[in-house]
Order: sequence, then C-alpha cells, then structure tokens
Amino acid sequence: MAKDYYDILGVSRDATQEDIKKAYRKLARKYHPDLNPGDKEAEEKFKEIQEAYEVLSDKAKREQYDKFGSVGEFTSQGPAGGGFEGFDFSDFGNFSFGDIFSEIFSGGRTRREEAQRGEDLTYSITIPFEDAAKGTVVTIRIKRMERCPRCNGKGYEAGSKPTVCPNCGGTGRIYLQRGYLKFSSVCPVCHGTGYLPGKSCKQCGGEGRIKIEDTIKVRIPPGVRNGGRLRIGGKGNVGIKGGPPGDLYIMISVLPHPYFRREGDDVYITVPVKYSEAALGATIEVPTLDGKAKVKIPPGTNSGKKLRLRGKGIFKSGGRRGNMYVEIKIVPPDVRDIKVRELLRELSKYEGGSPRDGLFK
Ligand SMILES: [Zn+2]
Ligand SMILES: [Zn+2]
Repeated sequence: MAKDYYDILGVSRDATQEDIKKAYRKLARKYHPDLNPGDKEAEEKFKEIQEAYEVLSDKAKREQYDKFGSVGEFTSQGPAGGGFEGFDFSDFGNFSFGDIFSEIFSGGRTRREEAQRGEDLTYSITIPFEDAAKGTVVTIRIKRMERCPRCNGKGYEAGSKPTVCPNCGGTGRIYLQRGYLKFSSVCPVCHGTGYLPGKSCKQCGGEGRIKIEDTIKVRIPPGVRNGGRLRIGGKGNVGIKGGPPGDLYIMISVLPHPYFRREGDDVYITVPVKYSEAALGATIEVPTLDGKAKVKIPPGTNSGKKLRLRGKGIFKSGGRRGNMYVEIKIVPPDVRDIKVRELLRELSKYEGGSPRDGLFK
C-alpha cells in the first residue's frame, strides 16, 4: 500500500511549502527518537514523517507523488519505460534537511542533556561553648559528588559526544544510485535516528560526576549559636553532566558549658561568695573566656547582684564583644561551728531593725 504522505503530515493536498515545513517540524519534535528513547513506535513514526517530508518538501518529488501516488513504488519498479527517462532526479541528492534537522537535533539534545544544579548537602557538627563564643576552624570529611576527571563532567568518552551521523548527514536516510535512479532507505549507520550517540564515560557511567571523600576546612565564625547553620557555597554535589554544584550546609550544635551561660552576646556565670566577702567586700578570681580574671566585690553586695565585666562576652564580627556578668550567690556561714553561731548571735545585736519593716502592708 502506498502511504499517504499528506495524511502522515496532517496537511491538505494543496498545502503550501510553509505549511508542510511547519507540520513537519511539529511532528519531528514530537517523535524524534532522541526525545523518545526506546520507543519503537515513535521511531517508526519519525521515519514515516521524515519520508513524507522528504517527498512533499521537494517540488519535483511532490509533483511525481501527486501524479503517481508514490515515489517509492515508482523507483522500486525500476525503469518502467522510456517515458520517465527525462525525469529530473537531481534534486534527490540536494535535499536539504540539515538546517531543520540540526535545529531539532540541538533542541532535543540540549533539553535532555541540560546540566542540572547539584544537590545541597548537610553536615552536622557539635562544638564546645568556647569555640562557638570565639570562633574556630573545624576540619570535616564528607562524601560528595565531584566532577568526573575522566570526562570533565561531560559524561562521554573523549571524542565521542553525540554527533550528527556522517553517513546520512543527520537525515536518517541514505540514497542509493541504481543507474539513473535513486532509492532512499534507512541509514544503516545510525538506524534512522540521524545521530550517533556518544560512548558513556567509563569512570562515571555518563553522569559526569563521581563520589569522592572530601576534606573541608570550615571556618566557624565567632558568636555562632546552637542550632545555627552555615552555608558553604559550591561544596554540595556537583551537578549531573557538568551542572553547577549545590551548597554545603553545616548544622551547628553548641555544647552547654558547665558554668558559663549565654544570653545574646553576653556571658553569665554564677559565683558563690562567702557571707563575709559579700558583706565586707573582697576581690575574688573568676573564670572568663579569656582565662582567669580578678573581680572586686564591693562591700554590702547582695545575693543576685550582677557585676559586669565589660567586653568579656561573646566575640562578634568586627572585633567587638558582648559583656560578661558575674552573678553573686551568697553562701551562708557554716553554723555547725559553735564559734560561728556565737559570732552571729553577737552580730544580730548590731543589725538594727528588721529588713521587712514597712515592706509588706
Ligand atoms: Zn545515519
Ligand atoms: Zn566521566
């Protein structure tokens, strides 16, 4: 049965060249084997579309087809009679498919092979209170996808990227000369697809990236908080087929300190002091982020009083720092000692009125 090329392209018999070209482009984009990998039906359809277009887009062939209902039947019958001897077949070989095909070809390829951005990665670390307060550098080891060194991310073996079939010039069909007649048939090199796929890279299997174990130095800025997140640009997975890398996110947990507490950019410490130290005043030694420091307790200091150590708190950007506060906690004297009890009784005689006098009404 002769095929109805007009039917195949979905155009009327009086369609213009522009209509035919438009219909062909639309169908070829839909059925191109590159966009329908492994789909035999689409492949057959694509070949049919190509065949129809080859004939209808060619003025001479279209005329012949309109007259005889088939180009193929005519050619396969061979020289049926002298009547056709003068027929001009020269256009067969000049059939220009390249511009349209290369457009579809590149369009299809780029869409499918479009490099994708790589995935973001996360890595959790736990750091001591002091490191969070002052900032630190942590070395981590993570498994991540890196650009394949063999193919440099392309996914293909060197010199084997998808290329337009050299046998058919991308048309998927070849033309055989039999005397003065030309036959067209499916290109045996590319099997009608019009291109030769590249050989997948041996190292990455075509993905363009491989798994590596990476050692990364992470600079933890001073003042980082528990639950904080650091972004390290470009240290996530590299994308497929040379796509840009994702980012690495460092999730930070800060260990609580045995005696320092943090509030905003300030550091607090509760320091027990003797009753006599609080009452009479004293100079005591307290730990700070910078080592030990001497703190003067003024006479008559109450329990709960917060003494400020300016600029001894959490480190901030620009070299500034929060404050440190020493919270006084008065420890009562040990009254198991009889001498202490005696002295306190003596003291009570001089303490004056009750501190609650006039306080609660
Ligand atoms: Zn070919
Ligand atoms: Zn590779």
